[in-house]
Formats: sequence, C-alpha cells, structure tokens
Amino acid sequence: MNYLGRLDVEMLTPSLEDYLEEVYRFSLTTENIRVTDLSNKLAVSMPSVSKALMRLKEKEYILYQPYGAIELTNKGKKLGSFLVERNRLLQDFLFLICARCDIAAEAEAMEHYLSKETIEALQALVKYIKNKPELYHEFQMYMKDEARRTIPLLDE
Ligand code: CA
Repeated sequence: MNYLGRLDVEMLTPSLEDYLEEVYRFSLTTENIRVTDLSNKLAVSMPSVSKALMRLKEKEYILYQPYGAIELTNKGKKLGSFLVERNRLLQDFLFLICARCDIAAEAEAMEHYLSKETIEALQALVKYIKNKPELYHEFQMYMKDEARRTIPLLDE
C-alpha cells in the first residue's frame, strides 16, 4: 500500500496532529471514542482534549458535540490514516537502521517535522530494504561494528 497516495497534507499543529492520530487509532477498535480515552492516552487534561476536539471540528476533521460522540469525517479519516501510517513508517525505519533508541518516542518526536517529500523518500527506502533481505543482512553485520556508531564530536 502507498501510505500517502495523493493526499495533500494540510498543516495542523503537532498537537492537533497527535489528537487526530489518536482519534483515528481509537476509531479502528471502538465505535465509542470518549474524551477520557484520549485524555488518558495522550496524558492531557479533559478540558485540553475538548478544546482540541473543537479545533478539529472547526477544521471539519471530526463531528463532535461536548459530551457527545466523536466521529471522523471522510477528511478526518483520510488524514488520520496518513498520520497513523506515518508514525508506523518512522518506527519501521528506525528499526531497520538499527537505531538504539526508544523507537516509539523517537518516531513521535520526528514525525511532525519531516516534509511530505522526506516521508515519501523514507517510505521508498523502507520498501526497498524490505525487498532485499541479503542486502539488509549485510547492513546489519556492518552495524555490529561498534566503531560505526560513534559520533566523534560527541565522544571527545
Ligand atoms: Ca503522534
């Protein structure tokens, strides 16, 4: 599947992107998305969630009334699915390059700041690597050499 299709990514703030991403994620497993679920998942207060939901509603990504159901519009589903796939792609990428970091946290930090062009290039790279197991194995061996992981400026 192509993660991006021809979607034109509208600029949302990183915070609103995360709200929409989580709403979409919840929509995959439940019919009743609740403000408390989002509040718990994103570790933010209920009023903050309500405020963000009103913004997403203004921008026509969701249908929502305070204390009522949260529903994604088609536009919301489209962008929400992109945001979830983008996060998954970055986690795949970090895993493939053998990054020794907290992959989920790192993907979370990176995702909002990469251009669509960079995401597309990373998507192609991940797909390319996945189709070349021997080449990838060679890369993994290469990365086993600890010397390759040092950044001279930081080690001085
Ligand atoms: Ca996110």
